[in-house]
Order: sequence, then structure tokens, then C-alpha cells
Amino acid sequence: MSIQENLNNIKSTLPEQVTLVAVSKTKPVSDLMEAYNVGQRIFGENKIQEMTEKWQQMPKDIEWHMIGHVQSNKVKYMVPYVKLIHGVDSLKLLKEINRLAIKWRKHINVLLQVYIAEEETKFGLNEVELDEIFQFVQNDDSLTNVKITGLMGMASFTENKDQIRKEFTHLKSLFDKYSQLNTHNCQLNTLSMGMSSDYKLAIECGSTMIRVGSSIFGGR
Ligand SMILES: *Cc1c(COP(=O)(O)O)cnc(C)c1O
Repeated sequence: MSIQENLNNIKSTLPEQVTLVAVSKTKPVSDLMEAYNVGQRIFGENKIQEMTEKWQQMPKDIEWHMIGHVQSNKVKYMVPYVKLIHGVDSLKLLKEINRLAIKWRKHINVLLQVYIAEEETKFGLNEVELDEIFQFVQNDDSLTNVKITGLMGMASFTENKDQIRKEFTHLKSLFDKYSQLNTHNCQLNTLSMGMSSDYKLAIECGSTMIRVGSSIFGGR
């Protein structure tokens, strides 16, 4: 099936409150344009340099989402245009994004990445670290140009649906807990969870934003 057919099929099954991020990492601009031409406007990339090159070449009404691990020293390249940074996993990074956002006179929305999987390899905050960041942010006036608008997580890479459901449900409970907060730099409305293999389950568990790559663009 074509990229356009894949995209339309997925979109036709999504509940209204769920936003689809088309994960286009490693794919050429021509593939992204196929998706663009049937109305897709949100694209997710995991490398800043690749995202910046695509941003330069593509129409400017696209929302670019950084979904990968972010290195502080590269934040400056995406601050001018990035719409949402999904993978924030330290206070240091949050402060660096804020510093550059001030410099560029921008306001940048971010999601905190929470570690929910059983594997050792995935990035993200544990619950203690997550809580520390929320405590800091609530009582801090220096983070003027960055706003935490949600949480992001990746489930274990497993066929075990019960395990995945457990991890997603856990993330949703953290999301509900911190959604009570309502400060100038902290207002949660986005729960980014679910990829090609598990987005249906993620939606059942309360996801509001799914990040789908291979089911749209084919394998990488
Ligand atoms: C690559 C990637 C995705 C998309 O994965 P698919 O299995 O191709 O849908 C989603 N989220 C993150 C963080 C990724 O790196």
C-alpha cells in the first residue's frame, strides 16, 4: 500500500481527541511530501540535524516534533522552529531549552519523557526524578519561556500485551496526577504514547498523541 493509503487508513480509525505524529526519521523528503499532500502536517524526527534539513526544504506550515533523545549542545538548531519537544528527561535540558527560547523570543512546549519500560536501554525519568522536576518548576520563576504540556513514554518491546497495557496505564496515572497542576509553565494536556506496534492499545489506555512511523512510511 502507498504512504497515502496507509495514512488514510490509520487516520480513519483514530478517535477525535488523538493526534497523529507521522514519524518520518530516515525517510526522504519525497516520502514526507506524499503524506503532506494528503493533509498530514505533524512530523516527528529523532535527530536534530535531519529535522532541520527537512524543515528547510519543506512547506512552512508543518509542525515539527522532536521525539528523540536531545543533546543540550544541539538544542540551538531547532529552537527557531520546533513545535514540541517530546523527549525532555532532565532539568538541565529544560533550563537549556528555556535559555535559548528566551534568546529567540520564543515559547516552547515540551513533554517530559518517563521511563516506563522494563528494558535498560530506554531514556527517560524515573518517578522520583519526574516529581523533582515538577516540584522545581512549580516554585520557580526563571523558566519563563518553556512550558511542560504533557508526558511521553515508550512501552517495553514485547509481544506481551498485558505488560504493555500495564506500562501505559501506569503512565496515564502519572499524567492524571500531574494534570492537577496548573501554573504558568506547567499545564498538562498531552499524553504521547503509542507507536506502530502498540498505538491501538495506547489509545485504549488514554493516549492523546501517537507517534507512528513504519505503519505509514514502511520499514526503516
Ligand atoms: C521511531 C520512533 C517511533 C515510531 O516507531 P514506529 O515503530 O516506526 O512506528 C515512535 N517514537 C519514537 C520515540 C521513535 O523513536
